[in-house]
Amino acid sequence: MTSVAELIRGAVASENAASEDVLERSAPDSIVLERVAPDSAKAPHRRPIVLRATGLSSCDSGLSSDPWAIDRAPGYGPGASVADEIPGDAPRQAPLPARYTEASEEELDRWILEAKATLGDRVRILGHFYQRDEIVKYADFVGDSFMLAQAAKGHPEAEAFVFCGVHFMAETADILSTPEQAVILPNLAAGCSMADMATIEQVEDCWRELTAVLGPQPAIPVTYMNSSAAIKAFCGRNGGIVCTSSNARTVLEWAFERGERVVFFPDQHLGRNTAKAMGIGEERMPLWRPHLPLGGNDERALRDAKVILWNGFCSVHKRFTVEQIDRARAEFPGVRVIVHPECPAAVVEAADGNGSTEYIRRQIEEASPGDVLAVGTEINLVNRLQQQHPELTIFCLDPVVCPCSTMYRIHPAYLAWTLESLVAGETPNRIRVSGDVATESRVALERMLAAKP
Ligand code: SF4
Repeated sequence: MTSVAELIRGAVASENAASEDVLERSAPDSIVLERVAPDSAKAPHRRPIVLRATGLSSCDSGLSSDPWAIDRAPGYGPGASVADEIPGDAPRQAPLPARYTEASEEELDRWILEAKATLGDRVRILGHFYQRDEIVKYADFVGDSFMLAQAAKGHPEAEAFVFCGVHFMAETADILSTPEQAVILPNLAAGCSMADMATIEQVEDCWRELTAVLGPQPAIPVTYMNSSAAIKAFCGRNGGIVCTSSNARTVLEWAFERGERVVFFPDQHLGRNTAKAMGIGEERMPLWRPHLPLGGNDERALRDAKVILWNGFCSVHKRFTVEQIDRARAEFPGVRVIVHPECPAAVVEAADGNGSTEYIRRQIEEASPGDVLAVGTEINLVNRLQQQHPELTIFCLDPVVCPCSTMYRIHPAYLAWTLESLVAGETPNRIRVSGDVATESRVALERMLAAKP
């Protein structure tokens, strides 16, 4: 098996010897763009997925398909969430006009820049950290979901925000921006498999069952930012709160000041990792499986629970393993391993540090030249950090390239279509959160802001 060290050496060698088979990005870095699969013969310039120039394999051959081809198929599409079950009512994207799907990369680039210049400050482009570089380069703001929602809130002069992220993020930006401002998701099929693992119907059923066993207000509901507006609203109207991966501990402390028990949606790993760090034993964290009576638990386990964990997860972060950490340490003695708290508890425990995307970025900023860092989070972000810090050796713990399936749906063709539609006076793919849901979600979000230390 090829070692991580060999792969990194291979990246440097490939970078120096870019051939016709490997299209280099304009920035000098170790990232190249994979040549596209067969149907791209008509448009060989298309670059659908970013791969490191290492000979690394990707997790899914479908990643070399164009997003608009994937949009026609059921499911989340290729990438980390390919095996996750998608809700039947998940939004679908209407086909893009051929002008965009047949355009060259240079044409898309020109159209995006011209439209952006025409729209000026009236329209702001928000790019998530996990988004591909071909999109991030156009973003006015780059950040995590909450930072981007705050960017939307902080720019009342903008008429529209083009949110290059996923559905729940656009919802949050809509909740926090003014009713006159439009929040647009360039591809409606860019959902989030983790957020989809908790539907409002399942959460209401869970609450009813918990109330029957534990009485009124059976727990303080806490939802991770990565959830639908309907679930944020559920938390708002039931004395609950939203958290991010940066403030999950502060939020749980807030919740325990108000109740003896928490029910945590939808990411079991963030909930478990945060509660463990607070000294809560795993035996007091039953897992709620939404398809089973009492979530698959007995009444006693629920009565004894401190944190009831929803059975959701991020398929990107679930891929990281303790074996990957052991391998990195064997090949790079002295490596610092940092992972996101959406990773399983065993991975978080084996790492040297864990925290939000912002924490990971800070750790890298504070590293000394020559340091080696192995990072357990989404590949686009890790690769970008690697480019930004040539004085460090930074690599993703997972040697298989497996991006977030849904972030992948935002391709420059969708961005060009969105911006040109705005120039033409149309507002495509507007994400709206309606009356009560918006109001109650805002309550849960404002509780979180107030709980911030
Ligand atoms: S990385 Fe995971 S949590 Fe984030 S959008 Fe993708 S599937 Fe959802």
